Amino acid sequence: MESQVISFDYVLTAKAGEVVDASAKGKPLIFISGQGQIIPGLETILLAMQPLEKKTVTIAAKDAYGLYDAGLVYKVDRSRLPNREIKVGDMFEVGRAQDFSPVTITAINGDEITLDGNHPLAGQDLTFAVEIVAKRPATPEELAHGHVHGAGGCHH
Ligand SMILES: [Zn+2]
Repeated sequence: MESQVISFDYVLTAKAGEVVDASAKGKPLIFISGQGQIIPGLETILLAMQPLEKKTVTIAAKDAYGLYDAGLVYKVDRSRLPNREIKVGDMFEVGRAQDFSPVTITAINGDEITLDGNHPLAGQDLTFAVEIVAKRPATPEELAHGHVHGAGGCHH
């Protein structure tokens, strides 16, 4: 299927109805389909929608930020972390080979720090209230660059 450039407004709520994230007023999120720029479960739904259409959908954890993986929780010594003040809830990037991924500090016990490599929304079913603002085929240049050009995208 031809890649689409889709801009959409959204409000994201997680369990217990708590609003986690939302697009700013007048600033919809814009992305190119087929490039892994948004979570797969949501992309599938947006591709099937038309401009100005609204919908509220719940995406299962496995199609959102993945299932919670206890194997991504591990402990390190304080000396292996950046030399600055840290607290529970801090996030930073750790590199393993070329793969950099964000981790969250979930416990501090003396010099023993517990890190969690799961996305903060892993394991949660997510509800999105979405409205398609605009939708058009991606241009060859956009596909070559891997980002959107023009309004809401890259100007160069
Ligand atoms: Zn470009």
